[in-house]
Amino acid sequence: MSDHGFATRAIHAGQDPDPTYGSVVVPVHATSTFAQDGVGGLRSGYEYARTGNPTRAALEAQLAALEGGRHCRAYASGMAAEDTLLRATLRPGDHLVIPIDAYGGTFRLVSTVLADWGVRYSAVDLADLDAVRAAILPETKLLWCETPTNPLLSIADVAALAGIAGEHGLRLVVDNTFASPYLQQPLALGASVVVHSTTKYLGGHSDVVGGALVTSDDDLAADLARLQNGMGAVPGPFDCFLTTRGIKTLALRMERHCDNAERVVEALEAHAAVSSVLYPGLASHPHHETAAKQMRRFGGMVSIRLAGGEEAARALCAATRVFTLAESLGGVESLIEHPGAMTHASTVGSPLEVSADLVRLSVGIEDGDDLVDDLLAALATL
Ligand code: PLP
Repeated sequence: MSDHGFATRAIHAGQDPDPTYGSVVVPVHATSTFAQDGVGGLRSGYEYARTGNPTRAALEAQLAALEGGRHCRAYASGMAAEDTLLRATLRPGDHLVIPIDAYGGTFRLVSTVLADWGVRYSAVDLADLDAVRAAILPETKLLWCETPTNPLLSIADVAALAGIAGEHGLRLVVDNTFASPYLQQPLALGASVVVHSTTKYLGGHSDVVGGALVTSDDDLAADLARLQNGMGAVPGPFDCFLTTRGIKTLALRMERHCDNAERVVEALEAHAAVSSVLYPGLASHPHHETAAKQMRRFGGMVSIRLAGGEEAARALCAATRVFTLAESLGGVESLIEHPGAMTHASTVGSPLEVSADLVRLSVGIEDGDDLVDDLLAALATL
């Protein structure tokens, strides 16, 4: 499969017809255990469904093929994937570098849960490579990158960060949730491991929560498998089925997300109530050149600042009709949210706090005209 194009791999990698009945779609193996032919005589390589399940294995093979990695492990959520990776790679006294505008849940995990286990962190603007170098300590083990970031849509130069990680013997982790493997391939740019909240673009239909880690590092992959089984934060077979089904249309959906985001950006840039539009596809975006170098297109996420401040931001979130006011992103339906009070509330009072005039849009795959009309009508009510 590795010599086929992206859309072909998305549909076929790991998706061989079922050997029992020839089902074209990998079945939902709703079983907690697998019969053995005599003690220790596994019929199919599977023994217990926390350790492994064929529906999960199909998803893992599909995702590994899309990210260009040798190994993938799926987890019950993006946070479970992150937790597993951090526990696999860090020990008490170790340190990691995270982005100054990391996803709020990542910040909460590192700053509260892992802090209790003696892990320290520095939050740095990853676009400032000198600041990244300066933050690296003798105890630093991981450089954690998210690009584009949630919710400010900053871009980090993955190849440059991989260079720094290599110089210091660190692992570079890239959270590829916002871009998806269709738009960006961090392993090919030098990352050691890719993290996903598969809840977002990969699942793509806002009907399942999941996470995944992809790497070509055999030792790390063995540790991730050990912890997947040992910690038990595994996705169920129906969740894996939904995620795999979503991934099959990823290429088509991402093109439409990008088309619609570009339409929305154009309309909002010209609007007096919007003081700025944050979108890496804009030539005026401070990291546009880096984005153009490492991304196929610029994605479906758009953030805006409202000239009328927090009051206008909250009012806009309540005024749209096609955009639903809700957390999460990356589904077929358009969503709007106020990060300061919703997804990023855990950053309030920290250096990662986001400003209250900010609104985040997850631009879906509806008709572009309807999305633009909805936003313009909502802005007119402010
Ligand atoms: N990483 C990013 C960039 C996210 O946006 C999210 C969730 O919003 C996560 C990780 C966590 O994923 P999950 O919600 O599936 O646990």
